[in-house]
Amino acid sequence: MRTTHISSFLSDKNLNSDFRNIAQKVIKKERITFNEGIRLFDADLSFLGSLANHIRQEWHGDKTYFNRNIHIEPTNICVYDCKFCAYSRLLKHKQEGWEASEEDILNQVRKYKEQPITEIHIVGGVHPKMGLNYFANLIKKVKEIRPDIHVKAFTAVELDYMCRKAKVSYKDGLSILKKHGQDSLPGGGAEIFDEKIRGEICNDKCTSSQWLEIHETAHNLGMPSNATMLYGHIEEPRHLIDHMERLRKLQDKTGGFNTFIPLKFRNGNNQMSNIEEVSIIADLKMYSISRIYMDNFPHLKAYWPMIGRDTAQLSLGFGVNDIDGTIDDTTKIYSMAGAEEQTPELTTEQLVKLIKAVGRHPIERDTLYNVVKDYKDIIFENEKERSY
Ligand code: SF4
Repeated sequence: MRTTHISSFLSDKNLNSDFRNIAQKVIKKERITFNEGIRLFDADLSFLGSLANHIRQEWHGDKTYFNRNIHIEPTNICVYDCKFCAYSRLLKHKQEGWEASEEDILNQVRKYKEQPITEIHIVGGVHPKMGLNYFANLIKKVKEIRPDIHVKAFTAVELDYMCRKAKVSYKDGLSILKKHGQDSLPGGGAEIFDEKIRGEICNDKCTSSQWLEIHETAHNLGMPSNATMLYGHIEEPRHLIDHMERLRKLQDKTGGFNTFIPLKFRNGNNQMSNIEEVSIIADLKMYSISRIYMDNFPHLKAYWPMIGRDTAQLSLGFGVNDIDGTIDDTTKIYSMAGAEEQTPELTTEQLVKLIKAVGRHPIERDTLYNVVKDYKDIIFENEKERSY
């Protein structure tokens, strides 16, 4: 996939001076400021794409990552009532939701006992009866079945509730989970850190500072994590840059984040269905601005079950270097909100072809981006004919 090189923009005498300064900073690997971040929202997509693509190329060359994982969602019963959430059900409506038993969950893991997956991703609703001890024991049993598997589990929202209910500090709660086999944290629950906007879309769950404190504590305990950002609802550019700024600062301090994942607001079946979804152009701008602003996050991920495999493929030209994994259809978080992929499942072969079709080099990774398999020279049947 070819994008215009930054030098072409710099040789254009009509380039706006703010954008010229930003482009020069990107070339010199200098950090852009908060105000420059906001200014980027006025730039056009081709300019943003060229900057983001330059940064991606500097970090990763042509390497594009994916992993083989499964998602386990123990329950969608949740004590909270986030307005954008189409997935959860309050306890009083529990007949509309699900509560998997421990045995159901372990059977799901056993189903993949012989499969070459490297990660189990466990997240769900915040169930009032599934607490710290329950989950610590669950992880221990998962690890007894698959000692080799990486367990990435529980958003900061779930962890905050678990720790408060168990009356332990974040440090003690995370240490217990780590001792039982939890390896890292996913990036969910961050939504948008600006307190006013957060108050309007999810006012009852953990605060922005609690979210950041939990991730900082995890990093200090040697548990890496990811970070997300929910965009395309009632926020403005300054709220998005503020969100990224707080993450960038924490990353400067701990270095514990692997990946930044912008998540598109979807308006299906939730309390914000009156808000129109943003366009693909806005999605690609968001990936590009994220790549430019988050200069200390090594990876930028497009979550293909949410935006669809075609947009995810396109995002590779706008700063993205990771398109997540082959996911079993056990994740309902996004499909219930009207995401593109109603049964999100891609085989490894399909993912590899999707990456190669845009001229990139597919690498199967583990959660920590160690190479599991390099697909550069592995040619699947019909691949040549279909890569054009
Ligand atoms: S987004 Fe998470 S915390 Fe909020 S209602 Fe949904 S499941 Fe619960």
